Amino acid sequence: MSHIPFLDFKPMHDPLRAELDAAITRVSHSDYYIRGKECETFEAAYAAYIGVKYCIGVGNGLDAIQLILRAWEIGQGDEVIVPSNTYIATALAVTYTGATPVFVEPILETAEIDPDRIEAAITPRTRAICVVHLQGRPCDMDPIREIAKKHGLHLMEDCAQAHGAKYQGAKTGNLSEAGAFSFYPGKNLGAMGDAGAVVTNDRELANKVRYIANYGSDVKYHHIYKGLNSRLDEMQAAVLAVKLPHLDAWNADRVRIAEKYRAAITAKEVAQPLAPDADHEPVYHVYGIRVPAKDRDALAAYLKENGIETIMHYPTPMHLQGAYADLKIPRGALPLAEEFSATELSIPIFPGMTDEQVQVVADAINTYFEN
Ligand SMILES: *Cc1c(COP(=O)(O)O)cnc(C)c1O
Repeated sequence: MSHIPFLDFKPMHDPLRAELDAAITRVSHSDYYIRGKECETFEAAYAAYIGVKYCIGVGNGLDAIQLILRAWEIGQGDEVIVPSNTYIATALAVTYTGATPVFVEPILETAEIDPDRIEAAITPRTRAICVVHLQGRPCDMDPIREIAKKHGLHLMEDCAQAHGAKYQGAKTGNLSEAGAFSFYPGKNLGAMGDAGAVVTNDRELANKVRYIANYGSDVKYHHIYKGLNSRLDEMQAAVLAVKLPHLDAWNADRVRIAEKYRAAITAKEVAQPLAPDADHEPVYHVYGIRVPAKDRDALAAYLKENGIETIMHYPTPMHLQGAYADLKIPRGALPLAEEFSATELSIPIFPGMTDEQVQVVADAINTYFEN
C-alpha cells in the first residue's frame, strides 16, 4: 500500500540541500546571529516579492499579528473583528494586546470571513478588522476595505496561509494597512524553525513594529515602548532567502494539484475549494474539502487505512475551546464555524506531489462514497 503524507518537504528541500547547508554554515561561521545582514537581505527580498515598501522579520506569525495591533495602540477595552473560522493564533494575538476578539462568521463556499456580516459586529469599541486569507484564498477585500473606511477602523491581514496569493493582481499583505506572515515550516514559505514577518507601506508603522519587536527600543538601551522580544534570527533569514525564489513555482505546483483534485474527485457528497477567478488567485496552503458531518470522521479513518494522511482544520472552533471559555459564547452561536469543524477535511497537497498520488487520494475518496 502506498503511503501519502499530508506534507512532504523532500521535493522542495532536496534540490536545494547544498544551498541550504551553505547558508546555515555561513551564518554559523559569521558569529552574528540576530538582526544582521541575512535578516536585512531577506527583508528586502520579501518586501520586493510582496510589492510593499517595508518588511520586518519577527519571531513568528502570532507575534507579527500582535505587533501590528500593538503598534496601533490597541489594547484593554478595545475590540478587534476576526473570523470565527481560523487558527486560534489570530484571536490569541488580539487577546495578548488586552483587546477582545469578536468573531464574524465565514461564507461556506469560500471559508473566508463574510463581508456582509462584519458591520453587525461593529460596536463603539471596535478598533480594527483582521481578516485571514484562509487556506491560501484571498478574502473579498473590496467590500471589507469599504467597511473599514466607512467606520474609521484599522484593517490588517493575517497572511499566514497565503504567501503569494493575489487579489485583483496584488499580493496578500499589500491589500490593507499591514500584513502578518508566518514562516512556520509547513507554510507555503517555511523556515527551519519559527519565523514571521510584518509587511506594510506605512513607514511610521514599520518603524514602530521594528522597535516594539526589539524591547521597544529605537536605539540600543533607549526604550520608547514596553516592547517584547520577537526578532527574526539570522539562520532562519538565510534559509528563507534560499527558499523565496522558488515560492512562485511551488505555489504553481499547488495550483496544478488543486486542478487535478477538482477534476478527479467526482463524489457528489464532496464540496471542493473554489477554482481561481479573475479576482482571486489562491495558493492552496491546504486543500480543504467539505463532506457531510456523518461521513467526515469515517472518511478520515478510511483514508488513513489506505495510507493517506489528512488533517481537520479545525476540529474545535475557537469559541468552544477552553481557552476562550471566558467569552461565554455558547454552542450554536456561531453555526458556520461549527459546521466547518464538523465537515472539513484537508487532504494532502504539497509541491512535488505527483499526479499519481493525487489520483490515489481522489480514487479513495470516490470509492468511500460509492460504498
Ligand atoms: C500558522 C498560522 C498563524 C500562526 O503562525 P505561527 O508562526 O505559528 O505563530 C496565524 N494565523 C494563521 C491563520 C495560521 O495558519
